Amino acid sequence: MNKTIVLTGAGGVLCGTLAKALAKEGNKIAVLDLRKEAADAIADEINREGGKAIGVAANVLEKDSLQHAKKEVNNAFGLCDILINGAGGNHPLGTTSNPFLQAEDLVNKTEGFKTFFDLDPSGIQFVFNLNFIGTLLPTQIFAEDMVGRKGCSILNISSMNAFTPLTKIPAYSGAKAAVSNFTQWLAVHFSKVGIRVNALAPGFFLTDQNRALLTNSDGSLTPRGIQIIEQTPMGKFGEPEHLVGTTLWLCSEGASFVTGVVIPIDGGFSAYSGV
Ligand code: NAD
Repeated sequence: MNKTIVLTGAGGVLCGTLAKALAKEGNKIAVLDLRKEAADAIADEINREGGKAIGVAANVLEKDSLQHAKKEVNNAFGLCDILINGAGGNHPLGTTSNPFLQAEDLVNKTEGFKTFFDLDPSGIQFVFNLNFIGTLLPTQIFAEDMVGRKGCSILNISSMNAFTPLTKIPAYSGAKAAVSNFTQWLAVHFSKVGIRVNALAPGFFLTDQNRALLTNSDGSLTPRGIQIIEQTPMGKFGEPEHLVGTTLWLCSEGASFVTGVVIPIDGGFSAYSGV
C-alpha cells in the first residue's frame, strides 16, 4: 500500500496488532500513544522485522500534543494518508456495581457499592472525553493532510455496545454510540474531499482493560465472562488478529466506495437476541 498511517492508542493491544499488520503490507507506521515507551516498543518490533515505524508520544485530548506528533510524523514519513483512532476505554467511576437496580440496593449499601445514583460525573466525562473527543481531535489535526488527495481514509474504533448498551457501563456504551454516530457524520462531511470514514465495532477481545472483568486469576471465566460467551454464537472471545482483515480492506482501494459504515467484528454477538 505504501501509505503513511497514523494509529492512536497503538501502544495498546488491539491497535498495536493493527500497526504490525499494516506495516507488513509495506506502509509507514506512526505508533501514537500516551505511553511513549509502549509506542516505542511496538515501533521497535516493526522495525526489527524490516518494516518502517516510529513511536510518538501523543495525548489525544490535547491539541498541542497532537500538533507536535503531526510534525514528527510529517518529518519522518510525509503527509498522513490514513488515521486509525484507536485510543479509548472505560473508567470504573462510570460503571455501576450491579446490572439491574434492586430496591434493596438503596437501603443496605456496602462500602464501594455503586448504584446509578452514585455515578460520578467526572468518571462519565473522562470516558466521553477519551472516546469521543479523543477521536475528534486527532481527526482535526491529521485529516488536514488528507483533503483533496487520493486514497485517504479514517478508521474509528467503536464497539458493539454502541448498537445495544451493555449493562453496568452507561458511559462507555454512550461514548461509543457517539463514535459510531460521528463516523457517519464525518463520512458525509468529508465526502466531497475524498476522505472515507468508517469504523470497526469489536465485540469482546481479552485485553488488559477487561481481563479482570471477564476472567479469574486462575484463567477461568467470571459470571460476566460466561454470560458473554453464551451470548456469542461463535462461542469464543475475539483475538486481536480478527480485526486485521476488515482493517486492511477498509483502508484499501477495494473499499473506495465504502464510507460511513460501522462493522461489527463480534462473532455474531450483536446479531443474537439470545433466543
Ligand atoms: P488498550 O488499553 O490495550 O489500548 C488503549 C491504548 O490507548 C493504551 O495503550 C493507552 O495508553 C492509550 N491511551 C489511553 N489514553 C490515551 C490518550 N489520552 N492519548 C493517547 N493514547 C491514550 O485497549 P484495547 O483493548 O487495545 O482498545 C483499543 C480500542 O478498541 C479502544 O478504543 C477500545 O475502547 C476499543 N475496543 C476494545 C474492545 C476490547 O474488547 N478490548 C472492544 C471494543 C472496542
